[in-house]
Amino acid sequence: MGRAVARLDRPGPHGSAAEVTTMPAALRRFLGHPRPPVLLGAVGAVAAVRALRGPIRRRDAVTAAVCLGAQPFVEWWVHRGLLHARPGGRLGSIGYQLAGHGHEQHHRDPTNLDTMFLRPREVTAGAAAGVAVAALAPPAAGTVAVCFGLGALAYDWTHFLIHTGIRPSGRYYRRVWHGHRLHHYRNERYWLGVTSPIADVVLRTSPTRDDVPVSPAALGASALTARHGRDRTDRPGRPGRRGWDVRTAGAAGTTGPGRVAGTAPGLRTATTDPRARGPYPPV
Ligand SMILES: [Zn+2]
Ligand SMILES: [Zn+2]
Repeated sequence: MGRAVARLDRPGPHGSAAEVTTMPAALRRFLGHPRPPVLLGAVGAVAAVRALRGPIRRRDAVTAAVCLGAQPFVEWWVHRGLLHARPGGRLGSIGYQLAGHGHEQHHRDPTNLDTMFLRPREVTAGAAAGVAVAALAPPAAGTVAVCFGLGALAYDWTHFLIHTGIRPSGRYYRRVWHGHRLHHYRNERYWLGVTSPIADVVLRTSPTRDDVPVSPAALGASALTARHGRDRTDRPGRPGRRGWDVRTAGAAGTTGPGRVAGTAPGLRTATTDPRARGPYPPV
């Protein structure tokens, strides 16, 4: 079983999300990568088992609505508590092994598709639990399992899309796009929502960019991105008017040794360029 799962997770290299610049290409890349189809299959399996338990009733609709309301908070907690778990203490070490290490790699090189998606090992374990719940627990619990899977799918797709070279459009998507870019290039302790900014607003992890310090991890990611020069959506919208350089976001207010490697001399930073206050109103 372990070997079969390892075979699903072909090591790569799988390229960079920044190479993707259109929605059809994004869909092809998402489905062509070894990891997302495993998640799609897992969600399909749980949904099929739930369907065998009987028709969707009013109670399932209410359950699904509650799940939808809880999704931003579940995502926030998983991101903060599990994906950013660090070794130290029993719980921290378990979280780090489960998901923290993989997410740490993603923060080191945010557009790298080798470390972008949920891993088959965790997905198949979650699917086994979801199938068991859908088969044995009351049908509404199966509906919760399906909703959980759909939430994971929405997270994986949206997260990938944010890191592609597709320019953000639409107010809602611009907002989550902007928040996740700040999470990577400003400070990973904030802007933890990926599919929704609601939990960040409620739990006060959505400050104005300049109110939080640039973290060492954000500096590292900015430096790598600047070196690769491959995060091509760093100037969404109309250049010049809304130009906000993600690569300099990490360098804002930083001089001397902490200056981002690869930043071109004379390149305006967020603190010196009045146009570079962020492409969107402060979150
Ligand atoms: Zn990310
Ligand atoms: Zn993160």
